[in-house]
Amino acid sequence: MAEYVIAIDQGTTSTRAIVFDHSGSIVSTGQKEHEQIFPQAGWVEHDPKEIWDNTREVIGQALSKANITRHDITAIGITNQRETAVVWDKNTGEPVYNAIVWQDTRTQKIVDRLADGDVERYKKKVGLPLATYFSGTKIVWILENVDGAREKAEAGDLLFGTTDTWVLWNLTGGTDGGVHATDVTNASRTLFMDLESLSWDESILKDFGVPASMLPEIRSSSEVYGTASSSSLLREVPIAGILGDQQAATFGQAAFDTGESKNTYGTGNFLIFNTGEEIIHSKNGLLTTLGYKLGDAKPHYALEGSIAVTGSLIQWLRDNIGLISSAPEIEELAKTVEDNGGVYFVPAFSGLFAPYWRSDARGALVGLTRYVNKGHIARAALEATAFQTREVLDAVNADSGVDLTELKVDGGMIANNTLMQFQADILGVPVVRPVVAETTALGAAYAAGLATGFWADLDDLRKNWQEDSRWTPNMEDDERDRQLRLWKKAVTKTFDWVD
Ligand code: ADP
Repeated sequence: MAEYVIAIDQGTTSTRAIVFDHSGSIVSTGQKEHEQIFPQAGWVEHDPKEIWDNTREVIGQALSKANITRHDITAIGITNQRETAVVWDKNTGEPVYNAIVWQDTRTQKIVDRLADGDVERYKKKVGLPLATYFSGTKIVWILENVDGAREKAEAGDLLFGTTDTWVLWNLTGGTDGGVHATDVTNASRTLFMDLESLSWDESILKDFGVPASMLPEIRSSSEVYGTASSSSLLREVPIAGILGDQQAATFGQAAFDTGESKNTYGTGNFLIFNTGEEIIHSKNGLLTTLGYKLGDAKPHYALEGSIAVTGSLIQWLRDNIGLISSAPEIEELAKTVEDNGGVYFVPAFSGLFAPYWRSDARGALVGLTRYVNKGHIARAALEATAFQTREVLDAVNADSGVDLTELKVDGGMIANNTLMQFQADILGVPVVRPVVAETTALGAAYAAGLATGFWADLDDLRKNWQEDSRWTPNMEDDERDRQLRLWKKAVTKTFDWVD
Protein backbone atom coordinates (compact mmCIF):
# COMPACT_ATOMS: atom_id res chain seq x y z
CA MET A 1 0.00 0.00 0.00
CA ALA A 2 1.11 3.56 -0.75
CA GLU A 3 2.73 5.19 2.25
CA TYR A 4 1.77 8.84 2.00
CA VAL A 5 -1.04 11.38 1.65
CA ILE A 6 -0.55 14.72 -0.11
CA ALA A 7 -2.34 17.92 0.87
CA ILE A 8 -2.73 20.91 -1.41
CA ASP A 9 -3.04 24.09 0.68
CA GLN A 10 -4.26 26.89 -1.59
CA GLY A 11 -3.71 29.84 0.80
CA THR A 12 -4.12 33.61 0.57
CA THR A 13 -0.44 34.37 -0.02
CA SER A 14 0.87 31.08 -1.40
CA THR A 15 0.03 27.58 -2.53
CA ARG A 16 1.69 24.63 -0.83
CA ALA A 17 1.76 20.88 -1.42
CA ILE A 18 2.79 18.85 1.61
CA VAL A 19 3.43 15.11 1.77
CA PHE A 20 2.55 13.50 5.12
CA ASP A 21 3.30 10.03 6.47
CA HIS A 22 1.09 7.88 8.69
CA SER A 23 2.33 9.55 11.89
CA GLY A 24 1.20 12.95 10.54
CA SER A 25 4.81 14.09 10.09
CA ILE A 26 5.86 16.22 7.14
CA VAL A 27 7.93 14.35 4.54
CA SER A 28 8.34 17.17 2.01
CA THR A 29 6.90 20.54 1.02
CA GLY A 30 6.54 22.50 -2.22
CA GLN A 31 5.53 26.16 -1.97
CA LYS A 32 5.05 29.15 -4.26
CA GLU A 33 3.68 32.64 -3.58
CA HIS A 34 1.26 34.29 -5.99
CA GLU A 35 0.77 37.93 -6.79
CA GLN A 36 -1.49 40.07 -4.59
CA ILE A 37 -3.27 42.41 -6.98
CA PHE A 38 -4.59 45.71 -5.52
CA PRO A 39 -6.32 47.57 -8.39
CA GLN A 40 -7.93 50.18 -6.07
CA ALA A 41 -8.23 50.93 -2.36
CA GLY A 42 -10.18 48.09 -0.78
CA TRP A 43 -9.87 45.75 -3.79
CA VAL A 44 -7.82 42.52 -3.54
CA GLU A 45 -7.53 40.04 -6.41
CA HIS A 46 -5.63 36.88 -7.41
CA ASP A 47 -5.08 35.44 -10.87
CA PRO A 48 -6.79 32.00 -10.89
CA LYS A 49 -4.58 30.76 -13.74
CA GLU A 50 -1.45 31.62 -11.76
CA ILE A 51 -2.91 29.74 -8.78
CA TRP A 52 -3.57 26.64 -10.88
CA ASP A 53 -0.09 26.79 -12.48
CA ASN A 54 1.46 27.12 -9.02
CA THR A 55 -0.61 24.19 -7.75
CA ARG A 56 0.85 21.94 -10.43
CA GLU A 57 4.34 23.23 -9.80
CA VAL A 58 4.27 22.73 -6.02
CA ILE A 59 2.94 19.17 -6.42
CA GLY A 60 5.99 18.46 -8.59
CA GLN A 61 8.31 20.08 -6.02
CA ALA A 62 6.88 18.07 -3.13
CA LEU A 63 7.09 14.74 -4.99
CA SER A 64 10.63 15.31 -6.22
CA LYS A 65 11.94 16.53 -2.85
CA ALA A 66 10.67 13.32 -1.26
CA ASN A 67 11.92 11.34 -4.25
CA ILE A 68 8.53 9.64 -4.69
CA THR A 69 5.89 9.29 -7.44
CA ARG A 70 2.10 9.08 -7.61
CA HIS A 71 2.37 5.37 -6.79
CA ASP A 72 3.47 6.29 -3.27
CA ILE A 73 0.46 8.56 -2.69
CA THR A 74 -2.81 7.05 -1.48
CA ALA A 75 -5.01 10.17 -1.50
CA ILE A 76 -5.11 13.92 -2.12
CA GLY A 77 -6.64 16.42 0.29
CA ILE A 78 -7.46 20.02 -0.61
CA THR A 79 -7.68 22.99 1.75
CA ASN A 80 -8.11 26.58 0.71
CA GLN A 81 -8.52 30.25 1.46
CA ARG A 82 -12.26 30.45 1.99
CA GLU A 83 -14.74 32.96 0.49
CA THR A 84 -12.40 33.93 -2.37
CA ALA A 85 -14.59 33.73 -5.48
CA VAL A 86 -13.64 32.46 -8.94
CA VAL A 87 -16.09 32.49 -11.86
CA TRP A 88 -15.08 30.75 -15.07
CA ASP A 89 -16.46 29.59 -18.42
CA LYS A 90 -17.03 25.84 -18.31
CA ASN A 91 -16.50 25.49 -22.07
CA THR A 92 -13.07 27.14 -22.19
CA GLY A 93 -11.86 26.87 -18.59
CA GLU A 94 -11.06 30.63 -18.70
CA PRO A 95 -11.92 32.77 -15.65
CA VAL A 96 -14.18 35.68 -16.65
CA TYR A 97 -12.49 37.90 -14.04
CA ASN A 98 -9.72 37.63 -11.46
CA ALA A 99 -10.52 35.84 -8.19
CA ILE A 100 -12.05 38.35 -5.76
CA VAL A 101 -10.31 37.71 -2.45
CA TRP A 102 -12.03 37.37 0.93
CA GLN A 103 -10.49 40.64 2.20
CA ASP A 104 -11.92 42.66 -0.71
CA THR A 105 -14.50 45.27 0.32
CA ARG A 106 -15.77 46.42 -3.09
CA THR A 107 -19.17 44.80 -2.56
CA GLN A 108 -20.23 47.12 0.26
CA LYS A 109 -22.96 48.75 -1.87
CA ILE A 110 -24.29 45.33 -2.88
CA VAL A 111 -24.35 44.36 0.81
CA ASP A 112 -26.27 47.55 1.72
CA ARG A 113 -28.79 46.97 -1.06
CA LEU A 114 -29.40 43.30 -0.16
CA ALA A 115 -29.53 44.04 3.58
CA ASP A 116 -32.19 46.68 3.13
CA GLY A 117 -31.50 47.86 6.68
CA ASP A 118 -30.98 44.42 8.26
CA VAL A 119 -27.58 42.77 7.76
CA GLU A 120 -28.76 39.83 9.84
CA ARG A 121 -31.74 38.94 7.63
CA TYR A 122 -30.29 35.57 6.56
CA LYS A 123 -28.33 34.84 9.73
CA LYS A 124 -30.73 32.31 11.21
CA LYS A 125 -30.60 30.23 8.02
CA VAL A 126 -26.95 30.54 6.97
CA GLY A 127 -25.16 31.55 10.20
CA LEU A 128 -23.61 34.69 8.68
CA PRO A 129 -24.40 38.39 8.58
CA LEU A 130 -24.44 40.06 5.17
CA ALA A 131 -20.86 41.32 4.71
CA THR A 132 -18.37 41.91 1.91
CA TYR A 133 -16.28 39.05 3.38
CA PHE A 134 -18.46 36.21 2.07
CA SER A 135 -18.31 34.89 -1.49
CA GLY A 136 -21.98 35.40 -2.43
CA THR A 137 -21.69 39.17 -2.78
CA LYS A 138 -18.53 38.76 -4.86
CA ILE A 139 -20.41 36.60 -7.40
CA VAL A 140 -23.06 39.31 -7.67
CA TRP A 141 -20.36 41.91 -8.38
CA ILE A 142 -18.94 39.79 -11.22
CA LEU A 143 -22.39 39.22 -12.74
CA GLU A 144 -23.15 42.94 -12.58
CA ASN A 145 -19.79 44.33 -13.68
CA VAL A 146 -18.17 41.94 -16.16
CA ASP A 147 -19.37 42.39 -19.75
CA GLY A 148 -21.59 39.53 -20.87
CA ALA A 149 -21.25 37.61 -17.59
CA ARG A 150 -24.93 37.69 -16.65
CA GLU A 151 -26.07 36.40 -20.07
CA LYS A 152 -23.51 33.60 -20.04
CA ALA A 153 -24.43 32.66 -16.47
CA GLU A 154 -28.09 32.51 -17.36
CA ALA A 155 -27.29 30.32 -20.37
CA GLY A 156 -25.59 27.89 -17.95
CA ASP A 157 -22.06 28.51 -19.26
CA LEU A 158 -20.44 29.90 -16.10
CA LEU A 159 -19.29 28.07 -13.01
CA PHE A 160 -18.52 29.51 -9.59
CA GLY A 161 -16.15 28.08 -7.04
CA THR A 162 -13.98 28.96 -4.10
CA THR A 163 -10.39 27.93 -4.75
CA ASP A 164 -10.94 24.34 -3.53
CA THR A 165 -13.48 23.95 -6.33
CA TRP A 166 -11.24 25.67 -8.86
CA VAL A 167 -8.35 23.32 -8.01
CA LEU A 168 -10.62 20.23 -7.91
CA TRP A 169 -12.23 21.02 -11.28
CA ASN A 170 -8.85 21.56 -12.96
CA LEU A 171 -7.18 18.60 -11.25
CA THR A 172 -9.97 16.24 -12.37
CA GLY A 173 -9.71 17.28 -16.04
CA GLY A 174 -11.19 20.80 -16.37
CA THR A 175 -13.12 21.15 -19.65
CA ASP A 176 -12.61 17.41 -20.11
CA GLY A 177 -14.96 16.16 -17.38
CA GLY A 178 -13.79 18.20 -14.38
CA VAL A 179 -15.72 17.59 -11.16
CA HIS A 180 -17.61 20.71 -10.01
CA ALA A 181 -18.02 20.23 -6.27
CA THR A 182 -17.20 21.75 -2.91
CA ASP A 183 -17.51 20.60 0.70
CA VAL A 184 -19.94 21.76 3.38
CA THR A 185 -17.37 23.96 5.15
CA ASN A 186 -16.65 26.03 2.05
CA ALA A 187 -20.31 26.11 1.07
CA SER A 188 -21.14 27.50 4.51
CA ARG A 189 -19.16 30.68 3.68
CA THR A 190 -21.14 31.74 0.61
CA LEU A 191 -24.29 33.08 2.36
CA PHE A 192 -26.28 30.57 0.25
CA MET A 193 -26.18 27.28 2.21
CA ASP A 194 -28.94 26.32 4.62
CA LEU A 195 -27.17 25.14 7.79
CA GLU A 196 -29.74 22.42 8.49
CA SER A 197 -30.40 20.91 5.07
CA LEU A 198 -26.82 21.51 3.82
CA SER A 199 -28.19 22.52 0.43
CA TRP A 200 -28.34 25.78 -1.54
CA ASP A 201 -31.27 27.95 -0.53
CA GLU A 202 -33.30 28.89 -3.60
CA SER A 203 -34.98 31.93 -2.11
CA ILE A 204 -31.64 33.50 -1.13
CA LEU A 205 -30.22 32.76 -4.58
CA LYS A 206 -33.26 34.51 -6.05
CA ASP A 207 -32.70 37.58 -3.85
CA PHE A 208 -29.07 37.71 -4.98
CA GLY A 209 -29.90 37.00 -8.65
CA VAL A 210 -27.41 34.13 -8.84
CA PRO A 211 -28.39 31.21 -11.14
CA ALA A 212 -28.24 27.86 -9.31
CA SER A 213 -26.50 26.32 -12.35
CA MET A 214 -23.31 28.21 -11.42
CA LEU A 215 -22.96 26.57 -8.03
CA PRO A 216 -20.94 23.44 -7.24
CA GLU A 217 -22.46 20.32 -5.78
CA ILE A 218 -22.19 20.31 -1.97
CA ARG A 219 -20.46 17.17 -0.70
CA SER A 220 -19.05 16.03 2.65
CA SER A 221 -15.50 16.93 3.74
CA SER A 222 -14.23 13.36 3.52
CA GLU A 223 -15.19 11.17 0.53
CA VAL A 224 -13.85 10.44 -2.95
CA TYR A 225 -14.84 13.32 -5.27
CA GLY A 226 -12.90 12.05 -8.30
CA THR A 227 -9.41 11.14 -9.41
CA ALA A 228 -6.60 13.28 -10.79
CA SER A 229 -6.64 13.46 -14.59
CA SER A 230 -4.16 11.86 -16.95
CA SER A 231 -2.31 15.15 -17.45
CA SER A 232 -1.49 15.39 -13.75
CA LEU A 233 1.62 14.10 -11.96
CA LEU A 234 -0.88 12.51 -9.56
CA ARG A 235 -2.98 10.80 -12.23
CA GLU A 236 -5.51 8.27 -10.94
CA VAL A 237 -4.90 9.24 -7.29
CA PRO A 238 -8.27 9.92 -5.59
CA ILE A 239 -9.08 13.38 -4.26
CA ALA A 240 -10.77 12.43 -1.01
CA GLY A 241 -10.80 15.39 1.39
CA ILE A 242 -11.81 19.05 1.19
CA LEU A 243 -11.95 21.49 4.10
CA GLY A 244 -11.80 25.30 4.16
CA ASP A 245 -8.48 26.38 5.69
CA GLN A 246 -9.75 27.26 9.18
CA GLN A 247 -11.81 24.11 9.50
CA ALA A 248 -8.83 22.12 8.18
CA ALA A 249 -6.59 23.62 10.88
CA THR A 250 -9.17 22.67 13.51
CA PHE A 251 -9.22 19.12 12.15
CA GLY A 252 -5.41 19.06 12.00
CA GLN A 253 -5.32 20.10 15.68
CA ALA A 254 -7.49 17.02 16.39
CA ALA A 255 -10.19 19.31 17.87
CA PHE A 256 -12.87 16.81 16.81
CA ASP A 257 -15.11 16.98 19.87
CA THR A 258 -17.66 19.41 21.23
CA GLY A 259 -15.93 22.13 23.27
CA GLU A 260 -12.55 21.79 21.53
CA SER A 261 -11.05 24.74 19.66
CA LYS A 262 -8.02 26.29 17.96
CA ASN A 263 -6.82 29.75 16.96
CA THR A 264 -4.86 30.31 13.74
CA TYR A 265 -2.54 33.33 13.36
CA GLY A 266 -2.00 34.01 9.64
CA THR A 267 -2.95 36.90 7.34
CA GLY A 268 -5.97 37.22 9.63
CA ASN A 269 -6.87 35.27 12.78
CA PHE A 270 -9.58 32.67 13.06
CA LEU A 271 -10.75 31.05 16.26
CA ILE A 272 -12.96 28.01 15.78
CA PHE A 273 -14.94 26.41 18.57
CA ASN A 274 -16.50 23.00 17.90
CA THR A 275 -20.19 22.87 18.99
CA GLY A 276 -20.76 19.27 17.88
CA GLU A 277 -24.07 18.39 16.24
CA GLU A 278 -25.69 21.49 17.68
CA ILE A 279 -26.20 24.70 15.69
CA ILE A 280 -25.54 27.57 18.11
CA HIS A 281 -26.56 31.07 17.04
CA SER A 282 -24.18 33.63 18.48
CA LYS A 283 -25.39 36.55 20.55
CA ASN A 284 -21.88 38.01 20.61
CA GLY A 285 -20.79 38.62 17.03
CA LEU A 286 -19.52 35.15 16.11
CA LEU A 287 -20.38 33.25 12.94
CA THR A 288 -22.12 29.88 12.87
CA THR A 289 -20.38 27.63 10.42
CA LEU A 290 -19.76 23.99 9.50
CA GLY A 291 -16.87 22.31 11.31
CA TYR A 292 -16.65 19.15 9.23
CA LYS A 293 -18.74 16.30 7.86
CA LEU A 294 -17.23 12.85 7.37
CA GLY A 295 -19.01 10.97 4.56
CA ASP A 296 -22.57 10.08 5.54
CA ALA A 297 -22.08 10.86 9.25
CA LYS A 298 -23.84 13.82 10.84
CA PRO A 299 -22.09 17.18 10.47
CA HIS A 300 -20.22 18.98 13.23
CA TYR A 301 -20.95 22.69 13.57
CA ALA A 302 -18.74 25.45 14.97
CA LEU A 303 -18.72 29.01 16.21
CA GLU A 304 -16.09 31.17 14.57
CA GLY A 305 -14.42 34.45 15.49
CA SER A 306 -12.85 35.88 12.34
CA ILE A 307 -10.39 38.78 12.58
CA ALA A 308 -9.53 40.36 9.22
CA VAL A 309 -6.11 41.84 9.93
CA THR A 310 -3.40 40.32 12.14
CA GLY A 311 -0.32 39.03 10.26
CA SER A 312 -1.18 41.30 7.33
CA LEU A 313 -0.57 44.30 9.63
CA ILE A 314 3.03 43.09 9.91
CA GLN A 315 3.18 42.75 6.10
CA TRP A 316 1.81 46.28 5.77
CA LEU A 317 4.48 47.67 8.11
CA ARG A 318 7.05 45.89 5.95
CA ASP A 319 5.72 46.63 2.45
CA ASN A 320 3.82 49.92 2.72
CA ILE A 321 5.66 51.69 5.54
CA GLY A 322 9.15 50.11 5.45
CA LEU A 323 9.38 49.90 9.26
CA ILE A 324 10.93 46.44 8.95
CA SER A 325 12.38 44.46 6.05
CA SER A 326 11.10 41.00 7.09
CA ALA A 327 8.21 39.82 9.29
CA PRO A 328 10.40 38.29 12.06
CA GLU A 329 12.14 41.69 12.49
CA ILE A 330 8.99 43.01 14.13
CA GLU A 331 9.88 41.00 17.22
CA GLU A 332 13.44 42.40 17.46
CA LEU A 333 12.05 45.90 17.15
CA ALA A 334 9.32 45.26 19.73
CA LYS A 335 11.94 43.96 22.16
CA THR A 336 13.85 47.27 22.08
CA VAL A 337 11.15 48.69 24.41
CA GLU A 338 9.63 47.52 27.70
CA ASP A 339 5.97 48.11 26.81
CA ASN A 340 3.71 49.79 24.26
CA GLY A 341 4.42 53.27 25.64
CA GLY A 342 0.68 53.99 25.68
CA VAL A 343 0.19 53.26 21.96
CA TYR A 344 -2.73 51.19 20.61
CA PHE A 345 -2.95 50.20 16.96
CA VAL A 346 -6.38 49.11 15.71
CA PRO A 347 -5.90 47.64 12.21
CA ALA A 348 -9.45 48.09 10.92
CA PHE A 349 -8.20 48.12 7.33
CA SER A 350 -11.18 46.11 6.00
CA GLY A 351 -13.57 47.40 8.63
CA LEU A 352 -13.77 45.26 11.77
CA PHE A 353 -14.90 41.63 11.68
CA ALA A 354 -15.69 39.70 14.89
CA PRO A 355 -17.04 40.61 17.33
CA TYR A 356 -17.91 44.10 15.99
CA TRP A 357 -18.80 43.63 12.28
CA ARG A 358 -18.34 47.34 11.56
CA SER A 359 -17.75 47.92 7.87
CA ASP A 360 -17.59 51.68 8.58
CA ALA A 361 -14.42 51.31 10.67
CA ARG A 362 -10.92 52.19 9.41
CA GLY A 363 -7.50 51.78 11.05
CA ALA A 364 -6.25 54.00 13.89
CA LEU A 365 -3.02 54.49 15.80
CA VAL A 366 -3.86 56.22 19.09
CA GLY A 367 -2.10 57.32 22.26
CA LEU A 368 0.78 58.99 20.39
CA THR A 369 3.10 61.32 22.31
CA ARG A 370 6.54 62.82 21.66
CA TYR A 371 7.95 59.91 23.72
CA VAL A 372 6.81 57.19 21.31
CA ASN A 373 9.38 55.52 19.02
CA LYS A 374 9.23 52.81 16.38
CA GLY A 375 9.73 50.07 19.00
CA HIS A 376 6.46 51.08 20.64
CA ILE A 377 4.67 51.00 17.30
CA ALA A 378 6.07 47.53 16.58
CA ARG A 379 4.88 46.36 19.98
CA ALA A 380 1.44 47.92 19.53
CA ALA A 381 1.14 46.15 16.16
CA LEU A 382 1.85 42.77 17.76
CA GLU A 383 -0.39 43.46 20.73
CA ALA A 384 -3.27 44.28 18.36
CA THR A 385 -3.39 40.60 17.39
CA ALA A 386 -3.54 39.52 21.03
CA PHE A 387 -6.22 42.06 22.01
CA GLN A 388 -8.43 41.14 19.08
CA THR A 389 -8.07 37.45 19.99
CA ARG A 390 -9.02 38.21 23.60
CA GLU A 391 -12.24 39.90 22.44
CA VAL A 392 -13.13 36.90 20.28
CA LEU A 393 -12.40 34.48 23.12
CA ASP A 394 -14.68 36.48 25.42
CA ALA A 395 -17.44 36.10 22.82
CA VAL A 396 -16.87 32.32 22.58
CA ASN A 397 -17.02 31.99 26.37
CA ALA A 398 -20.23 34.03 26.52
CA ASP A 399 -21.96 32.09 23.70
CA SER A 400 -20.94 28.64 24.87
CA GLY A 401 -21.35 29.26 28.59
CA VAL A 402 -18.01 27.57 29.36
CA ASP A 403 -14.64 29.27 29.79
CA LEU A 404 -11.84 27.88 27.64
CA THR A 405 -9.01 26.70 29.88
CA GLU A 406 -6.26 26.84 27.27
CA LEU A 407 -5.83 27.88 23.64
CA LYS A 408 -4.33 25.64 20.93
CA VAL A 409 -2.57 27.80 18.33
CA ASP A 410 -1.05 27.51 14.86
CA GLY A 411 -0.16 29.67 11.82
CA GLY A 412 2.79 31.79 10.68
CA MET A 413 2.71 34.36 13.51
CA ILE A 414 3.14 31.84 16.33
CA ALA A 415 6.87 31.80 15.56
CA ASN A 416 6.82 35.11 17.48
CA ASN A 417 7.53 34.36 21.16
CA THR A 418 6.92 37.92 22.32
CA LEU A 419 3.44 37.81 20.81
CA MET A 420 2.65 34.37 22.23
CA GLN A 421 3.72 35.43 25.75
CA PHE A 422 1.65 38.60 25.54
CA GLN A 423 -1.25 36.52 24.24
CA ALA A 424 -1.13 34.25 27.29
CA ASP A 425 -0.81 37.33 29.54
CA ILE A 426 -3.81 39.11 28.06
CA LEU A 427 -5.98 35.98 27.94
CA GLY A 428 -5.07 34.76 31.41
CA VAL A 429 -4.96 31.14 30.13
CA PRO A 430 -2.05 29.10 28.69
CA VAL A 431 -1.33 29.09 24.95
CA VAL A 432 -0.22 25.74 23.48
CA ARG A 433 1.56 24.92 20.21
CA PRO A 434 1.63 21.41 18.62
CA VAL A 435 4.74 19.80 17.09
CA VAL A 436 3.27 19.84 13.56
CA ALA A 437 2.39 23.53 13.14
CA GLU A 438 1.21 22.98 9.52
CA THR A 439 -2.19 22.02 10.86
CA THR A 440 -4.12 23.37 7.85
CA ALA A 441 -2.50 21.00 5.38
CA LEU A 442 -2.50 18.22 7.96
CA GLY A 443 -6.28 18.55 8.44
CA ALA A 444 -6.89 18.17 4.70
CA ALA A 445 -4.57 15.17 4.61
CA TYR A 446 -6.47 13.63 7.54
CA ALA A 447 -9.84 14.08 5.79
CA ALA A 448 -8.48 12.43 2.62
CA GLY A 449 -6.72 9.62 4.48
CA LEU A 450 -9.82 8.82 6.53
CA ALA A 451 -11.93 8.43 3.38
CA THR A 452 -9.47 5.99 1.83
CA GLY A 453 -8.70 3.91 4.94
CA PHE A 454 -5.13 5.21 5.35
CA TRP A 455 -6.19 6.20 8.86
CA ALA A 456 -8.77 4.02 10.59
CA ASP A 457 -10.69 6.56 12.67
CA LEU A 458 -10.45 9.78 14.70
CA ASP A 459 -8.66 7.98 17.56
CA ASP A 460 -5.94 7.03 15.11
CA LEU A 461 -5.48 10.77 14.45
CA ARG A 462 -5.73 11.94 18.08
CA LYS A 463 -2.63 9.87 18.84
CA ASN A 464 -0.63 12.02 16.41
CA TRP A 465 -1.19 15.31 18.32
CA GLN A 466 1.80 16.27 20.46
CA GLU A 467 2.56 19.40 22.44
CA ASP A 468 5.66 21.35 21.40
CA SER A 469 5.57 24.45 23.62
CA ARG A 470 3.39 26.25 26.13
CA TRP A 471 3.24 29.89 27.28
CA THR A 472 1.71 30.57 30.69
CA PRO A 473 0.16 33.87 31.82
CA ASN A 474 2.42 36.23 33.74
CA MET A 475 0.50 39.49 34.19
CA GLU A 476 -1.31 40.96 37.20
CA ASP A 477 -5.09 41.09 36.87
CA ASP A 478 -5.16 44.87 37.40
CA GLU A 479 -2.70 45.45 34.59
CA ARG A 480 -4.64 43.13 32.27
CA ASP A 481 -7.87 44.98 33.01
CA ARG A 482 -6.22 48.35 32.40
CA GLN A 483 -4.78 47.24 29.05
CA LEU A 484 -8.12 45.85 27.90
CA ARG A 485 -9.96 49.01 28.89
CA LEU A 486 -7.55 51.15 26.84
CA TRP A 487 -7.76 48.76 23.88
CA LYS A 488 -11.56 48.88 23.85
CA LYS A 489 -11.43 52.68 23.98
CA ALA A 490 -9.02 52.69 21.02
CA VAL A 491 -11.42 50.47 19.04
CA THR A 492 -14.23 53.01 19.41
CA LYS A 493 -12.00 55.62 17.72
CA THR A 494 -12.12 53.65 14.44
CA PHE A 495 -15.91 53.71 14.01
CA ASP A 496 -17.78 55.81 11.49
CA TRP A 497 -14.86 56.59 9.19
CA VAL A 498 -16.50 55.84 5.84
CA ASP A 499 -18.47 58.70 4.25
P1 ADP B 1 -1.57 32.54 5.46
O1 ADP B 1 -1.76 31.06 5.58
O2 ADP B 1 -2.75 33.37 5.89
O3 ADP B 1 -1.02 32.98 4.13
P2 ADP B 1 0.67 32.14 7.35
O4 ADP B 1 0.09 31.23 8.38
O5 ADP B 1 1.70 31.61 6.40
O6 ADP B 1 -0.45 32.96 6.56
O7 ADP B 1 1.31 33.35 8.18
C1 ADP B 1 1.92 34.42 7.52
C2 ADP B 1 1.65 35.71 8.28
O8 ADP B 1 2.37 35.69 9.51
C3 ADP B 1 2.10 36.91 7.49
O9 ADP B 1 1.04 37.87 7.48
C4 ADP B 1 3.30 37.46 8.26
O10 ADP B 1 3.30 38.87 8.28
C5 ADP B 1 3.11 36.89 9.65
N1 ADP B 1 4.39 36.54 10.30
C6 ADP B 1 5.30 35.62 9.87
N2 ADP B 1 6.33 35.55 10.73
C7 ADP B 1 6.08 36.42 11.74
C8 ADP B 1 6.77 36.81 12.94
N3 ADP B 1 7.91 36.26 13.29
N4 ADP B 1 6.17 37.76 13.71
C9 ADP B 1 5.00 38.30 13.38
N5 ADP B 1 4.31 37.97 12.27
C10 ADP B 1 4.84 37.06 11.45
